[in-house]
Order: sequence, then structure tokens, then C-alpha cells
Amino acid sequence: MADRSLRGIRLGAQSLQSEEGVVFMERTATTYKCEACSQETTLMFAADAEPPQTWECRVCGAEAILQVDGASVTLEEADVKAARTHWDMLLERRTRDELEELLADRLAYVRARRGAGDGSAERIGA
Ligand SMILES: [Zn+2]
Repeated sequence: MADRSLRGIRLGAQSLQSEEGVVFMERTATTYKCEACSQETTLMFAADAEPPQTWECRVCGAEAILQVDGASVTLEEADVKAARTHWDMLLERRTRDELEELLADRLAYVRARRGAGDGSAERIGA
């Protein structure tokens, strides 16, 4: 009898543990609304856990925004840090005035090399 009931039970498929005496964690329903398809997704989080601000929409995979009091929360933009461009890096090393001066020098050099009156080849630094 005992042998028969154990046969065929896959590990993890079914808990043999009794729920007797188990105290369930208090949980709260958290709603996310998709920006793309307006589908709402409701998840249960432990009451003392802070839910993430966004969740992947179950329907279309777009970003769904946490709803608080029926409205989307304002996302913190801390993570969205603009990538530094070459121009940004250049401005960290030189002031705008220095750059204007360098440009003027370079233009004067190019014009002197090219000679007056020839406006056909406008390639600087070539
Ligand atoms: Zn969606």
C-alpha cells in the first residue's frame, strides 16, 4: 500500500508536507499596467517587500508600470544615465574657448595650405 502510493511521484511535483500549522505570509496584490497594450497584471508580493517599479507585460512583453492608487508611478530615472559621447569627453579636457581657438588655428592652417581663392576641397585635417 505504502509502496504503491510512492510510485510515480516526481520530485517537486507534489508536496507531501501537511499544511497544518503553516502560517502564510501576509501578501498584498500589486498591479502593473502595460504602457503598450494597457493590459493590467496583478502580482502578489509579501506585504513587507517593496515591489519593483516595472514588470514585464505578460501579453506583449513591453514594460508595465507599477500602479499606486490607480495611477502609474513616476519612474526614477537614476538608472537611465546618458552615455558619454566623444563631445562630452572633449569638453572635460578643454573649455569651449580653447576649442574655438584650436578651431580658428586649424582653419587658418588649412586655408593657408589650400591657398586663397580655392573653395573646392573643404576637407579639414585630410
Ligand atoms: Zn503589454
